[in-house]
Amino acid sequence: MSEALEAQQRLQAVARDPRAYLEQWRQAHPGGKVIGALPMNFPREIAYAAGVLPVIVQDDQKPVTEGRALLAEFYCGYTRNLADQAATGRFDMYDALFMADHCIQLIGSADIVRAVTPQPVFFGMLISSLSDSWAGAKIAEMMGEFRSELERFSGRTIEDHELRASIVAYNKDRQLLRRIFDDRSAGSAVHSPTQLQDYVVSSMVMDPVEHHRLLEAAVSEPASRDRDARVRVHLSGHLCHAPRRELLEVIEDSGALVVDDDLYTGRRYLSTDVDESLDPLDAIGKWYAQRNVNIPCPTRVQHDADWDEYLVEATRSSGAEAVIHLMPKFCEPHMLFYPELRKSLEAAGIPQLLIETEHEGIPLEAFRTRVEALVELTLRKRPVHV
Ligand code: SF4
Repeated sequence: MSEALEAQQRLQAVARDPRAYLEQWRQAHPGGKVIGALPMNFPREIAYAAGVLPVIVQDDQKPVTEGRALLAEFYCGYTRNLADQAATGRFDMYDALFMADHCIQLIGSADIVRAVTPQPVFFGMLISSLSDSWAGAKIAEMMGEFRSELERFSGRTIEDHELRASIVAYNKDRQLLRRIFDDRSAGSAVHSPTQLQDYVVSSMVMDPVEHHRLLEAAVSEPASRDRDARVRVHLSGHLCHAPRRELLEVIEDSGALVVDDDLYTGRRYLSTDVDESLDPLDAIGKWYAQRNVNIPCPTRVQHDADWDEYLVEATRSSGAEAVIHLMPKFCEPHMLFYPELRKSLEAAGIPQLLIETEHEGIPLEAFRTRVEALVELTLRKRPVHV
């Protein structure tokens, strides 16, 4: 087996079974601490600088059992899955849980996690109104609290030079991920959307230095840049967790080629680096605000950053011919913003398809038919060369 294939398989294994990775990590780092960090705003750099491994908690895709009684059915699948992981002891792989606010439903699930897990839980409220004149100061204050809380948890002071080293490690890993995503937009379909998802999810779980080393090996074989005749699509949505892999496979099997996205387990996660030239804690605060400029999020409020404008612009720069919205059922921020997205894409003449995803049971064959219809419609819009 080639080194590249071996590294790809390792990353896939970590992405699909974080628990096994954490067991190995604990054996290699006796006494080391692991925290579960909830997406999408927690500054992992601060935790890593404290010598702690910060792991972004994934939807583990198991059926919701005990969690059913803890959160109402109209909570999104991700938050119900979190409640279930907490209630059934699946959070025992973490020594503590850290959260940075991202939406109302997450706050609801955080209360459940706090009530049913024995581990300490720290919830940091990051300001969501980013246009306010006091936003910068509030963000800096919260980042300072994360630092103090992580110092208390780890029992050590976080020095600035450690914070800088941590920033460099995460930036380096994000930059390599970005290069792979850029290659896909430029026409290289060597790594499939499910592989890209595995690369991003494994980076959310692993030590960033170890992940970067493996990822370099995984993509060491030259990328082909043959232009593919399939319909180029942009995937939009899934703000805080991964869409099912089977769904990504159905999309590409139906004649579409995913060239770009704004998924959390995609561009949204890797869009923004932390500025290495600034004071490290200030830089992490600026990173939080800048992410919303680079890829706006409907859970944040900012007058000069709009998801719909971003989406139209993103399709222009990647050459995407159509957009597929992947909206988790009951995801309020997405549902509320969706009419704006739809209107802007319609005005720009970009074909689109809405797929509502569910935590349990996805009607793949019905999705296939709908994606095929979108592909057909988009092909008809292609200019005819005589
Ligand atoms: S952003 Fe949407 S999918 Fe994510 S926790 Fe909030 S409601 Fe659920």
